[in-house]
Amino acid sequence: MVKNTPTTLACNPPPEAAQTLLALMHAQGEVARLSEREQLFSSLLDSVNAVLWAFDWESRQVLYVSPAYERIFGRPAGLLLADFNEWRDSIYPDDLDYAERSLAQVLEKGAVEDREYRIIAADGQVRWISDKCFISQQAMPDQRVIIVGMAEDITEKKQLEGELQRLATTDVLTQSSNRRHFFECAQHAFETARREQAPLAFLLLDIDDFKQINDTYGHQEGDYVLQRIADTGKAVLRRGDQFGRIGGEEFAAVFPGCTPEIAQHIAERLQREIQRLSFSHDDKVFGVTVSQGLTGITEADESLDSLFARADAAMYQAKRQGKNQIVRG
Ligand code: GH3
Ligand code: MG
Ligand code: MG
Repeated sequence: MVKNTPTTLACNPPPEAAQTLLALMHAQGEVARLSEREQLFSSLLDSVNAVLWAFDWESRQVLYVSPAYERIFGRPAGLLLADFNEWRDSIYPDDLDYAERSLAQVLEKGAVEDREYRIIAADGQVRWISDKCFISQQAMPDQRVIIVGMAEDITEKKQLEGELQRLATTDVLTQSSNRRHFFECAQHAFETARREQAPLAFLLLDIDDFKQINDTYGHQEGDYVLQRIADTGKAVLRRGDQFGRIGGEEFAAVFPGCTPEIAQHIAERLQREIQRLSFSHDDKVFGVTVSQGLTGITEADESLDSLFARADAAMYQAKRQGKNQIVRG
């Protein structure tokens, strides 16, 4: 007969003790599982190249910021967790107002995904940040509003966008506005002038006998002449004026807020500066002249086309009258 020894007692504990033991083992397993998960999340957050953050709207307290913050913003996370102003201090001053307004917008919209602003990183470099934010769906027991967000460094994307924009709007040879961009800007200036009943002048410029320059000195020299004329145009025009190459050897300018009388002075200066340009090719020195057609907006002008047509007709009249002159249309 088998005796009831302590050993057999240990193997058959009373039901309550067994349950406690099981619960303990389960809890230990759970702790291990959670710790494993935490390690996994922590390594995920560490490797993601975006700053994940959480912010308590009422207390203006940053509750959490992921490790990428220190890499992207170049500032210690501890300072941000201690004081929300640390975030404000990192923002490029011109963008601060927008960054704060767009953060507040999340309260009405629930999500603001197109939020982009610049920061000044600790190394002094300006970086573009895309900082999407959302109202946390996780209801807080005390009804606190928690905003969560994801900030990414989009500096390279912005630079690429800028370069694409430049390529799409610039004439490769002269680095002035291309035809399409010039007319877009001119259209915008025309509409503003109409709306505000403000003056606006339109100028067309065509190089005289350019074909002959090409034929005599070569196409490359002709290209150089185009570049120098474009540089002169850019130097003579005022800030806010539009200037572009709208054809082979044809340029145009729009002068917002400018009567034809004032624009005439600018055109005369341009005429003189271009005449002063000197080119040399194979020991031969030569100069270049231009013909210009100038006009101003009138009440009757329904579209930019009518100004363009008038300036064009004036420019052709300048050609007929012997070139190297400005005609008002
Ligand atoms: P006008 O005084 O009547 O304006 O005569 P023009 O010779 O200037 O005008 P025309 O229209 O007869 O010739 C323009 C020339 O411009 C012809 C074309 O080969 C040249 N051209 C157009 N685009 C370029 C360019 O990008 N580079 C160079 N080098 N020449 C160009
Ligand atoms: Mg021409
Ligand atoms: Mg010409």
